[in-house]
Amino acid sequence: MVVNDTPDSGKGILYNTRWAGDYRGKLEEAEKRGVCIFCLKELERSGRKFRRLDSAIMFENEFPSKGAKIHLLIVSERHVTSPADLHLHEWMDILRMFIQVTEEMGVDGGALVVRFGDSDISGATVHHLHFHLVVPKLDERGLSTPVAFYVG
Ligand SMILES: [Zn+2]
Repeated sequence: MVVNDTPDSGKGILYNTRWAGDYRGKLEEAEKRGVCIFCLKELERSGRKFRRLDSAIMFENEFPSKGAKIHLLIVSERHVTSPADLHLHEWMDILRMFIQVTEEMGVDGGALVVRFGDSDISGATVHHLHFHLVVPKLDERGLSTPVAFYVG
């Protein structure tokens, strides 16, 4: 079960985890080594837990959006940067992974978002095309609370 139960940062809704110290350091280190942290070889090297379904790979977002109960990433095994570069079977594998995981986890609702294109516009910090599966926390009344997911 992949659930984000970490407490809020207390820095307000505009706090952007993309630039938190740990994450920035990880990105800078990967850039120096010339590797992509979402590529299979690097996922294996890091010891990070991930799941495969044919060409699709799913793993936890190490720095989930504030307010997310679940924040997973789904990528194609092949490093591509544009949706136009994904083959049809890779799209299908990603969608199959999404359906399988949400059914297994009993997810009743959420969002599946893909960052694409120019990262200066999309806000992506990793240039490997990736999908975010985001499920909000529920309050004591069972109502969803907003998730701070940034584009740009
Ligand atoms: Zn990659």
